[in-house]
Amino acid sequence: SIKKPKLLDNVLKYTPTKEIPEIISRLNRSFHEDGKTHKLQYRLNQLRNLYFAIRDNKEQICDALFKDFNRSPSETMNMEYAVVMGHLIHTMSHLHKWAAPEKVSDVPINMRTNPVYIERIPLGTVLVISPFNYPLVLAVESIAAAIAAGNCVVLKPAESTPHFSQLLTDILTKAMDPDTFAMINGAIEETTVLLDQKFDKIMYTGSTQVGTIIAKKAAETLTPVLLELGGKSPGFVLEDVKDSDLKVIARRIVWGRYTNAGQTCVAIDYVLVHEKVKAKLVDTIAKVMKEEFYEDLTPRSTGYTHMIHRRAYEGVKKMIETTGGTVVVGGETDEKSNYVSPTLIDNVGWDDSTMRQEIFGPVLPVITYTNLEEAVSQVVKRHDTPLALYIFTSGSLLREKNPQVELIRRSIRSGGTIVNDSILQVGLHNAPFGGIGYSGQGAYHGFYSYRAFTHERTTIELSLAMDFVSQVRYPPANDRKDAV
Ligand code: NAD
Repeated sequence: SIKKPKLLDNVLKYTPTKEIPEIISRLNRSFHEDGKTHKLQYRLNQLRNLYFAIRDNKEQICDALFKDFNRSPSETMNMEYAVVMGHLIHTMSHLHKWAAPEKVSDVPINMRTNPVYIERIPLGTVLVISPFNYPLVLAVESIAAAIAAGNCVVLKPAESTPHFSQLLTDILTKAMDPDTFAMINGAIEETTVLLDQKFDKIMYTGSTQVGTIIAKKAAETLTPVLLELGGKSPGFVLEDVKDSDLKVIARRIVWGRYTNAGQTCVAIDYVLVHEKVKAKLVDTIAKVMKEEFYEDLTPRSTGYTHMIHRRAYEGVKKMIETTGGTVVVGGETDEKSNYVSPTLIDNVGWDDSTMRQEIFGPVLPVITYTNLEEAVSQVVKRHDTPLALYIFTSGSLLREKNPQVELIRRSIRSGGTIVNDSILQVGLHNAPFGGIGYSGQGAYHGFYSYRAFTHERTTIELSLAMDFVSQVRYPPANDRKDAV
């Protein structure tokens, strides 16, 4: 029953900039004076409200994202709704355990009979700035983490998904306590005013370029940052790949590249394949694209996402037009709907138009290598510290028995790694998700989120009795010699 998008202007109501300082003051007052968020039951109530608000509006959420960038409801349900609901349930069911003080082991003898522990205390008021590409999961999971940890939270969602961001604002304004949660909408002007306020932590998810602006601004007031950024994540296909495994590998690569039209931070950005396997791999990927996943695709098809806006569309279109490689599949575009068809480009060189920056669109360049060490050193030299690293092999999964996999893993530092698949790390509820170097700093998900939004305070509670055990540290020093 989903209708084609109508291009509506002014769908998203921007927050007047003059109101922003007072909104932040309100949350700060609430944190310091009422102390509501310090209570675990209050946090659980807020998380429960968040859970039901999303659950009760899932059709409207799917509908809004379809209007924003032709995102199919099934992609929203699989890639966002299922993931975020799983995270919320995991958080609610583990919160008591995470909030409990952690006993310190191996303490000195004079403290052994007393409580010595790490307590994780809320930071205060935190700012979450989220991107357009998975606007539900990346906004809600981040604010849930901050709420669970006992903070007041300001969310600034992406302005480039106006239907979704307005819907989320309407839903959450009703569901959440305005004393402890607020939403600010807008673009650069509003975000700049927002960043002029003092926060106790800023979590930013988005491009490395804007992440740098945020980190610089935060440094002025020594505000800690959690940065979830992008990068070029390689997908290696090793020479040991058997013909019988090619189909599965091709499907996983195609899914890992073209889901959400390639607008995925952990997407396979480019393939590096050994020359022995290259021709068959390209052929199989092309077949999967044309005969299985994207048969008869047109700009009017409802099952395939479009580029988020004209600027992103133009960038990817230009990359395709100026490539020095061979376009094997796709290359079709439609300006009216920002549609770029799934595009596969073979015979790509390291200096190609597709290899200069993160693609963030439905284009997969294929680079052929003959020497793995040389290919690895090019990755390190040109696109080090990607958010993800993917390796496809038919060989052993035991590290010591697959030296090629081991070489890649040892040489390339990455946010996460998967052998024989892609993207799945995002769905793990309790493993640190984050980048390294230019792909970000800090990590979250599950207990790692709780840690990210609390301060770990070491606490010692000692009795005033038995002071004789402390005598040794008090002056005078027993080797003191006074001048005569
Ligand atoms: P975007 O355009 O939606 O921007 C993200 C947020 O930054 C928005 O809320 C936007 O309003 C704000 N913003 C933009 N310019 C700003 C400025 N000058 N000052 C302050 N705020 C500003 O998203 P994007 O940046 O195009 O997102 C795509 C990038 O995000 C890709 O590089 C992708 O890899 C990365 N990403 C990373 C993750 C992760 O978890 N590591 C997840 C999703 C996306």
